[in-house]
Amino acid sequence: MKILVPVKRVIDFNVKPRVRPDGSGVDLDNVKMSINPFDEIAVEAAVRLREVGIATEVIVVSIGPQQAEEVLRNALAMGADRALLIRTEPGIDPEPLAVAKLLQILVTKEAPGLVVTGKQAIDNDMNATGQMLAGLLDWPQATFASRLALSGNDLTVTREIDGGLQHLRLPLPAVVTAGLRLNEPRYPSLPNIMKARKKPLALCDAAEFGVALEPRLEVIRTVEPVQRPAGVKVASVAELVEKLKSEVGVI
Ligand code: AMP
Repeated sequence: MKILVPVKRVIDFNVKPRVRPDGSGVDLDNVKMSINPFDEIAVEAAVRLREVGIATEVIVVSIGPQQAEEVLRNALAMGADRALLIRTEPGIDPEPLAVAKLLQILVTKEAPGLVVTGKQAIDNDMNATGQMLAGLLDWPQATFASRLALSGNDLTVTREIDGGLQHLRLPLPAVVTAGLRLNEPRYPSLPNIMKARKKPLALCDAAEFGVALEPRLEVIRTVEPVQRPAGVKVASVAELVEKLKSEVGVI
């Protein structure tokens, strides 16, 4: 069984995003970009299934600019077998529906038994692509996975939902979206980073797929989060109670 893992190149999670002065979006000039953290978890899950012999091949795909090759090499160094870059024009960041349609075409071509996406891309927080792909393919889906087990054609997934855990059993082929607690992704070793350079990475242009990539959503304005006022240290419980009474007015 093949597993397809879509990985997105996003602003590195350690970088504090800067909003462009005109509010038109986040400034990405000279900013460190990395693989979306949830996609790293998805790659790890897929590679583990291949290592135990349940999967035969892990294919990673990224839809993005030429530089997205770096995140694909990263996924290859983690253990994915081959990669595909579906290249977009600079400045174009396809929305979930367009990404899902491109992935749908790829799924038809590659026929994976399982697609594992991240639960959300940390740049736009859409949390939609996996669900849209499952909808387009008419496949069962399990989102926010924190545990994943496969036996025969049955996939068992534990989902993190509000107030608890939900256990689902679904037949393959299926779409799973990886949550934070699914696993701890490995750091690629130096030899594996070197090996990854030789693994197959195919390239094609998004325009060849005939999918409309123009945005359907209009970003009206992007703003910095409201600054929280600095905290104060109090010397005693009595002072804290006094402040809560007189300054904050909560007691
Ligand atoms: P989103 O719906 O944008 O929050 O993204 C959810 C997941 O879909 C991500 O974690 C990726 O696995 C996948 N995905 C979204 N956009 C892309 C892209 N441009 N290239 C590859 N995978 C993507």
